[in-house]
Amino acid sequence: MPLDGNGGYTVRRYTLDFDWRAPRTPFAAGATIDATATQALSRFDLDFAGNTLRTVTVDGAPARAVREGDELVVTPARPIPDGAAFTVHVAYTADPTQQRHRDDAIGSYGWMPTADGTVLCLQPDGAKLVFPANDHPSQRAPVTFRVTTPPELSAVAGGRLVERVRRPDGRIRWTYDSEQPVAAQLVQLAIGRFTFTESRGPRGLPVRDAVPQDLVDGTAAYRALTPEHLDWLEQRLGPYPFRRYGVLVGDTGLPVALETQQLSVVPSARLLGDRVGAERDLVHELAHQWTGNSVALRRWSDLWLSEGHARFYERLYTDTHGGPGLEDAMRSAYEQHDRWRHDDGAPAEPTEPSLFRQIRYDGSALVFYALREEVGEETFERIERTWVTRYQGRAAGTGDFIALASEVAGRDLRPFLTPWLYGEHAPPMPGHPDWRVRPVED
Ligand SMILES: [Zn+2]
Repeated sequence: MPLDGNGGYTVRRYTLDFDWRAPRTPFAAGATIDATATQALSRFDLDFAGNTLRTVTVDGAPARAVREGDELVVTPARPIPDGAAFTVHVAYTADPTQQRHRDDAIGSYGWMPTADGTVLCLQPDGAKLVFPANDHPSQRAPVTFRVTTPPELSAVAGGRLVERVRRPDGRIRWTYDSEQPVAAQLVQLAIGRFTFTESRGPRGLPVRDAVPQDLVDGTAAYRALTPEHLDWLEQRLGPYPFRRYGVLVGDTGLPVALETQQLSVVPSARLLGDRVGAERDLVHELAHQWTGNSVALRRWSDLWLSEGHARFYERLYTDTHGGPGLEDAMRSAYEQHDRWRHDDGAPAEPTEPSLFRQIRYDGSALVFYALREEVGEETFERIERTWVTRYQGRAAGTGDFIALASEVAGRDLRPFLTPWLYGEHAPPMPGHPDWRVRPVED
C-alpha cells in the first residue's frame, strides 16, 4: 500500500467534530490536525477519500487543496519551516455509507451503517473514508471525538468519555479522548441505542461495554468473561497496555470482529452462539491490544506478528477452555502451509491482495508454535513478554522480532526463523518429526 501514510510531518492530535444525523445521511464534519513538520514543507499530503470537501485552512489561513486519487494535496499560503508546529483544519460533508471491499478475511470495511447508527471497521486502509489522516499502521496520534447525536442515541469511541452535554436544541454532544495514541486503522466510533455496562479488570482497570439495548441480556454471559481473559493474558504478556477496555457489541450483520483500540468490536452472532466461538473472538481481539495495537506494525508486511500472535493466544486459550486443541490446530496448519505459501505468500511476504489470508492467522500462529518448540516454553514466554514490554507504544517489525528473540534466547535465531517466514516451503517442525506438509501439486 505504497501511497498510504505521508512524509514530512508527524501528527500530534486529531480532533474530529461530527454533527451526526442518521445511518445513511451525509453530515457536517470537521477535522483539526495538529502536526509538526519534520522537514520544510511547501506542500504536504493527507490520506482522504470520498466525502465532499469544503474548505482547508493551515494555521487559520485558506490553503489550496487538490484531490489526487486518495491523496489530499495541501499547499499552505506560506511554506512551513522544518520543526514548526502547524494546524490543518479540513471542513467536509461526511458520507457515512462509504465502504470498500477486500477478497480476504476483511470483506467490507469503512463505515458500517446499522439500523439506527454506525460502527467503524477501518482496517486496513479505510480511515481515509472517515477523516483526513496519516493512514499508516506505524503512525499514531491521540484522537478526540466531539460527536453530536439525536437525543435518543449514544456515541461511543475508544478512550475516555470526557463530557456529555445536552445542547439547547436537545441534541447531545459527546466528547471522547483516546488518551493514548492510536493508529488511524484502529480508531473506533459507534453510534446507536446503546446500554453501557461497567465492570473492573486487574488493578481496577475500567471495563465498559457498549451494547445495543436489545442485546444486553443475550450477550451478558460471555461479556462477563473479560476480566478472566485479561487475567489470563496478563499472566503471559504482562500488564494490559492501555487505560481502559471494553467490548462493543456489533449489530447483527457485522461480519467480523476487530481489535479497535481499547474498544474491540465483536459481532453479536458470536456472542449469542457457543462459548468456544465467543471466547475465541474475545481473547483474539483482547490479545491484539498488546500485539498489533500497543506494539504497532512497522509496515503491513509485518501483519503476521499481529495476527499470528492473536491467533496463537486464541488457540492457546481454547486449548484449555473446551475448544480445539492447540496441537491439533497447529498440525492442521502445518499440513496446509505450503499451499498457503504458494497461494498467498509466506507469513512475512504478503502481497497487497493476500494480506489477510489464513497464512497470516493460523499460518503465522504456527511460526510462534515452531519457535516455542525450538527454544522451549520458558524461553518463549520470556521472548513474548520482552517483546510487548520493549516495544510498548512503539512500532516494530519482523527484523526487530528476530533480533529480540535471538537476544533473549542467547543464540542467533535468524537461521531458524528465516525459512519459517520467507520462501516456498515450511521447514521441519521441531519436536514433531512425524508431521508432514501436504505437497502442492500444480
Ligand atoms: Zn486479528
